[in-house]
Amino acid sequence: MFTTRKKAEVPDKKNNLWAFPVHCQNCGIRLLGAAKEICRYCILNELARIYPEPKKGMYPEGVEWQIACWKYDEAHLIQRLMHRLKHKAAYDIGVDLGRAAAELFQQAHPNKYRELMLEQPLVVPVPISKQRRNSRGYNQSYSIAEGWIAAIPLSILREGSIARRASRTNQVHISKNERRFNMEGVYRLACPSVYDWINRPILIMDDVYTTGSTCFALWRFLKSLGFKKTYLFTLAMA
Ligand SMILES: [Zn+2]
Repeated sequence: MFTTRKKAEVPDKKNNLWAFPVHCQNCGIRLLGAAKEICRYCILNELARIYPEPKKGMYPEGVEWQIACWKYDEAHLIQRLMHRLKHKAAYDIGVDLGRAAAELFQQAHPNKYRELMLEQPLVVPVPISKQRRNSRGYNQSYSIAEGWIAAIPLSILREGSIARRASRTNQVHISKNERRFNMEGVYRLACPSVYDWINRPILIMDDVYTTGSTCFALWRFLKSLGFKKTYLFTLAMA
């Protein structure tokens, strides 16, 4: 079974960072409070606008609603932070962004927030393949979920409960239909304790929503296990 944190807590010897960064990665101000990578000022000023809810029809029947917090290419800061989150072993960027996204969501969608509080869905961060997790050191969706539950407390599915094999070909240069085919059967159940949650709605959480093939493949897989009510939340919409 995986543990969520690994590589992120090891000092970055190459860049000579021996301790956690104490300055905002965007403006350089000294960090205070819970922030670990980005200060509140940068989040509130540069990422204060929540992306409107996608139209019905963009997501399949059975998904109650889908929220993406920020538009990926509108905010330069988001692009930069996401890149670091994926390629620079910066686990805490995910935590900071996840918490900020949950707070924004709470303000921008009070009814949906109340619905979540009533329904108490299980947070299912999108699994990544073992190879990718080993090279990155963590699953960035789990860092986002960790930040999210600091603001909106919900249970998270334990990492490693659902396994994902590497997709057939790289997703970047193929069409939407090909992506869907590419994603068929990539998930499998790795731990039967997932069934303990079968009566709970689920909240799928991911970093970027591009065509939705990753989220929807996971949604179809969870549906095949017997889960029903589903919400989707991503940090950004590409
Ligand atoms: Zn800052």
